[in-house]
Amino acid sequence: EWANASMLRLTGYSLEEMRGKKPKDLLHGPDTDKEVSARIRQTLAEGRPVTEEVLNYNRQGEKYWARISISAQYDDDGKPTRYMSIQQDINKQKSAEEMLLKRTQELEQMNFLLDRQREMAEAIANDHQEARKRLEAEVNRRQILEADLRHLAMTDSLTNLPNRQFFMRRTAQEVSRALRFGRPLSLVIFDIDHFKRINDDFGHLMGDKVLEAVAAIIRETVRESSDIHCRWGGEEFCIASPETDMDGIKSFAERLRHNIRTLTIDADGTMIRVTCSFGIAKLLPNDSFSSLMKRADDALYSAKHKGRDRIETADATHKSAPAVTATTATNETFGSATELAGEHPL
Ligand code: GH3
Ligand code: MG
Ligand code: MG
Repeated sequence: EWANASMLRLTGYSLEEMRGKKPKDLLHGPDTDKEVSARIRQTLAEGRPVTEEVLNYNRQGEKYWARISISAQYDDDGKPTRYMSIQQDINKQKSAEEMLLKRTQELEQMNFLLDRQREMAEAIANDHQEARKRLEAEVNRRQILEADLRHLAMTDSLTNLPNRQFFMRRTAQEVSRALRFGRPLSLVIFDIDHFKRINDDFGHLMGDKVLEAVAAIIRETVRESSDIHCRWGGEEFCIASPETDMDGIKSFAERLRHNIRTLTIDADGTMIRVTCSFGIAKLLPNDSFSSLMKRADDALYSAKHKGRDRIETADATHKSAPAVTATTATNETFGSATELAGEHPL
C-alpha cells in the first residue's frame, strides 16, 4: 500500500488499481525524465530519502508536475521494506516558471530589437545631421554669392557708390512714402565744374582719381542711415534726403560744396582742385520722383548758367507754377537727368 488520499486525487487512480503496481508502471510516460527516475532509485538504494520534481501522467494520460518526496523503511539487514511517498501538485508553479522563462526570453528578444533599432535611429540621425550641415553650408554660400551679385548690380564700379538703378528704386519708395504720410523729402543733384578740362589737362586716369575723391567726400558727408546717394552718371551725383525740408537740404549742399572745393588731389606734384554746381528741390504734393528730379536738374542747369560753384533752388523760382511745365531748361547739357522723365514714369 503506497498511496494516500491526496495521491489518489492527483493521479486519478483508485487504491485497488494501485495495489501491487510499481509507481513507475502507472505514472511514468514518454516525457518523464529517465535521469530523474534513475537518480531517485540511486539515492534510495544508498539509504537516503529523496525529493525531486517529476513529470507524471494521471489516469487519463494527462501530464502533471509533482514534487515527490520518498523515504524508505529498512529491515535489520538494511534492505528497504517499505517506501513512503508524498506527492505535491506543483503544476501551478511549473506553468508559472515556464511562463516566466518564456516572458524573460521574449523580453530579452525585445531588448535586443530595441537596441538594434536605437543604433539604426542614431545612424540615421547622424546622416541626417551631416546632410543638413552640408545643405546649410551650400545655402549660406549661395546667399553670400547672391548678396555679392546684388551688391555688384547696385554699385558703381569706379567709385563704389550706389548706382543710378539703386538710387531710383530706393528714392521712388521714399517719395511715395513721403507723399502718403505728408512728410518732407528733398533732393540734391550736383555736377563737377569743367571736368572735361581735368581729363584734358591731366589725363583720364587722373579724372578717375578725382571722381573717387569726390565719392569719398559724399560718403563722409551723407547721413548713411537715411540719405540715399549715388553716382548718377559721369561726373554727376545725387542725394535724396527723407525727412528734410528746403533749409535742411540747403545746408547739407553747402557742407558738400565746401568739402569738395577744399579738397586737393595730387596729380604728380600739381594740386588739383574742383568745384561743383548744385541743384536742390523739395518734394511738392503733386510730385513724382521724375518731376522732383527734373526740378532739381533744372536748378543745377541754372547754377551752371549763373557761373558754377553755387547752389540753386528750383522751388524758389517756380513757387506757384506747376512743377514740371514751369521750367525753361533744355536738355542740352544735362541730358542724362532730363531723359529720366520719359524713361521712368515713377
Ligand atoms: P560743366 O561745368 O558744364 O559740367 O563742364 P564739364 O566739362 O564738366 O561738362 P561735360 O558734361 O561736357 O563733361 C563731363 C566729362 O566727364 C565728359 C566725360 O569725358 C567725362 N567723364 C564722364 N565719366 C567719366 C569717368 O568715369 N572718368 C573720367 N575720367 N571722365 C569721365
Ligand atoms: Mg560737369
Ligand atoms: Mg556733366
